[in-house]
Amino acid sequence: MKAAIFYGIENIKTEEKEKPKCGEKEVLVKVAFCAICGTDVRIFFSGHKKVIPPAVIGHEITGEVSEIGKGLSDIDLKIGDKIVLVTSIGCGKCPLCKKGFYNLCPDTKAIGYFYSGGYAEYVTIPEPAVQQKAWVKLPSNVSLLEGALIEPLSCVINGQNYLDIEKGDTVVIYGGGPIGLMHAVIARAKEAENIIIIDPNFQRLESFAKKFEGLILLDPKKENIKEKIKSITSGFGAEVVITAAPAKEAQMEALEIIAQKGRISFFGGLPKDNSNITIDSNKIHYNEISVFGSFASNRVSFVQSAELISQRKIAPEKFITEVIPLEDIEKGIRKVRAGEALKIVVKIS
Ligand SMILES: [Zn+2]
Ligand SMILES: [Zn+2]
Repeated sequence: MKAAIFYGIENIKTEEKEKPKCGEKEVLVKVAFCAICGTDVRIFFSGHKKVIPPAVIGHEITGEVSEIGKGLSDIDLKIGDKIVLVTSIGCGKCPLCKKGFYNLCPDTKAIGYFYSGGYAEYVTIPEPAVQQKAWVKLPSNVSLLEGALIEPLSCVINGQNYLDIEKGDTVVIYGGGPIGLMHAVIARAKEAENIIIIDPNFQRLESFAKKFEGLILLDPKKENIKEKIKSITSGFGAEVVITAAPAKEAQMEALEIIAQKGRISFFGGLPKDNSNITIDSNKIHYNEISVFGSFASNRVSFVQSAELISQRKIAPEKFITEVIPLEDIEKGIRKVRAGEALKIVVKIS
């Protein structure tokens, strides 16, 4: 089979590789599409502790069930089913796994990191993933291409599940990449009134956001953000702030622009050796502010994500700016890094 093999930093090659055999308790999937994630870009340029080269990365995967292990007689899947793979696989034994929070398991292993991923013609759903039912069947009106957005959208939904966005709320989003814009679209679906996106790469933000109506775009290099949010919200601040950018400034500023009883999501992580910030904790105390974290997603938010796409609450075609062949994977990764594309989806077969 054809596969893009990651050999190390800035070294990925599309070549022939032996097709994986389907173990007794495994499922083999013929990959249709795999979308390029910001994490794939980071792995390509900086490596990742759970990706040991040579490896096949890619975790935003849709495909068709090709083989089902002989030892899986009562599995809720049949050959030809169109599915999206759930990324995070837990140990299955710890208290978090027992509640289904596989993304937070201390020993979490993920498809496209620890396990072989989607930039290949076939991917295996390994035994622990089969036990955790790490797939969702695509709704009948969601194509395999559109389904490649279910994973990134599931992460956005996991983050917003904490935030109780209501009709009339002002939602401020730091970061105008695909994830920031997905947050905006989902906030709109919840009838938020003002949806404000802040990004210092303002030109890129403007060019991406023009497909999405009614967003307020702010350039932090030109505007006083605190004053601007005050004037938009009659001095009260935003009910919800989401930081979808790896920036300390955004996390600290969130507390300056949040309303009383406001909810903040630290959605994007900070660089691991530079993640301490300074906050005035009295602001949280006196104003009853909630600050939530969010990391990856679990099956529940995959199901919600597939439903939202099926109901057309989000238009996948606005996000998928390009579909490329596997041979162009490196070009695609470089394009995402340069901010020249929203979502690039690799067509595998
Ligand atoms: Zn992703
Ligand atoms: Zn666990």
